[in-house]
Amino acid sequence: MAKYIFVTGGVTSSLGKGIIAASLAKLLQARGLKCTIQKFDPYINVDPGTLNPYEHGECYVTDDGAETDLDLGHYERFLNIPTSQANNVTTGRIYQTVINKEREGDYLGKTVQVVPHITDEIKRRMMLLGNSGEFDIVITELGGTVGDIESLPFVEAVRQIQWELPEEDCVVVHLTLIPYLKAAKELKTKPTQHSVRMLSQEGVHPNVIVCRTEHPINAEIKRKIALFCNVKPEAVIEAMDASTIYEVPLKMLEEGLDVIVMKKLHIEKFNTPELGKWNDFLNKYKNPTSKVTIGLIGKYVELQDAYKSILEAFVHAGAINQCKVQIVNVHSEHITADNVDSQLKGLDGLLVAPGFGSRGVEGKIEAVKYARENKLPFFGICLGMQMAVIEFARNVLGYKDAHSTEMDVNTTHPVIDLMEAQKTVTSKGGTMRLGAYPCEIAEGSLAHCIYQTQTISERHRHRWEFNNKYIDDYINAGMQTSGKNPQNGLVEIVELNNHPFFIGVQYHPELKSTVENPHPVFVGFVRAAKDFSSVKISSGLTEALV
Ligand code: GLN
Repeated sequence: MAKYIFVTGGVTSSLGKGIIAASLAKLLQARGLKCTIQKFDPYINVDPGTLNPYEHGECYVTDDGAETDLDLGHYERFLNIPTSQANNVTTGRIYQTVINKEREGDYLGKTVQVVPHITDEIKRRMMLLGNSGEFDIVITELGGTVGDIESLPFVEAVRQIQWELPEEDCVVVHLTLIPYLKAAKELKTKPTQHSVRMLSQEGVHPNVIVCRTEHPINAEIKRKIALFCNVKPEAVIEAMDASTIYEVPLKMLEEGLDVIVMKKLHIEKFNTPELGKWNDFLNKYKNPTSKVTIGLIGKYVELQDAYKSILEAFVHAGAINQCKVQIVNVHSEHITADNVDSQLKGLDGLLVAPGFGSRGVEGKIEAVKYARENKLPFFGICLGMQMAVIEFARNVLGYKDAHSTEMDVNTTHPVIDLMEAQKTVTSKGGTMRLGAYPCEIAEGSLAHCIYQTQTISERHRHRWEFNNKYIDDYINAGMQTSGKNPQNGLVEIVELNNHPFFIGVQYHPELKSTVENPHPVFVGFVRAAKDFSSVKISSGLTEALV
């Protein structure tokens, strides 16, 4: 039977509950336990798929096609095992299930209420992965901050589970903030005391308090927190700011978070943590022998969370290449034909990001042109790949008004067109082409050289596609369609013949990059950028970046 760990948050949001949950899971996994992590979000959207990236950061997509919270990306990157629809549940999904059941008459005339019907559905979903028999430990992260009105039913569900399960099968870890008051030169524990009190008023007593802090917490402060929060001093864990999120598991190991949790769960048989690969990665990450500068061309660049998985994939690919990858954000709306040279000068590679709608696409097309003409390593993801296809049509094939019908329904050359299956779709939530699909790679292509295999599986999130009507025009003019879906012939990868590294992919490779398995396209791209940079250096072209 699985044991359950709940991670709640207090004082403020953005304390990094996802990273703490993932770090704890990593340590337990490293000690030989099978772990999974799930996130319960209190908002009413059925899933984050309809949320603007400015609101909620990137939407992470799982193999089974769930549109989920970006924390699931951290879970996969840390644990190196896939998550699924069951790993992310929102208030909206809970209510949808309960309301559908009510309409079906399943409640037999009863009044349907938050307690017990909503809380029962929350509990059922909280226990689902644990009941599968696949895991020893299920960690559940509760989104939001304790005290929020909307998280009350979730906290109540945790209270009931804590009451129902044997004491040794359930642990609550509360993550909180210990602010430092500069004027008083003091760390303050009061907000933590209040948030623990609030959680206790809601019936949940935390077993472990993890304290985010910018300064070390001494034994006296730990004792004070322990006393007023009613836990033992060893259950007060310091979580100092780390230089990278990937260092957090090691910091938690030093602090004994895993050991205190296992003690509470009566887990007596465990190994010394096997973190060899993790440490190798950190070592390489911290000791780069080279450096490249990559331009990230996107329209959500003000909010880094919008491109979370891309940025993390660069961290993984940089480390394996022992290369520091410096990302320069370039707002696609600010790129024009007149300023593109000065905007992109000095870069070693260009990544054109995914996106939706017409804002900023002309800038992306200019950026692709620059990369194609200057033989600058290029990597286009989803919309980025579509922009590469449009650029080639306009500037090589001579189809001046070529476009995607997403932006221009009247174009005479719809080189990117709505997928057949999408033409009848009207509703927005969960209706894109989502999740993992196979792709066959052409032998002898750059893609084949990168993946070293013929069939791959990658995750998708889009409605438009390469229009196969134009395939021969592209091939004849030097753009290959080197990856296709074997069932329906959808083009998944395009690349240029006479270019050192130019690849566009219709899928999202960033979603499958992990610490232990950096994604091959990112690895290849960073390597190509390194090559580009060394040629640049040897030819004396080391101009300063804009
Ligand atoms: N808007 C494009 C489509 O739906 C690309 C989507 C994306 O970049 N994820 O096809």
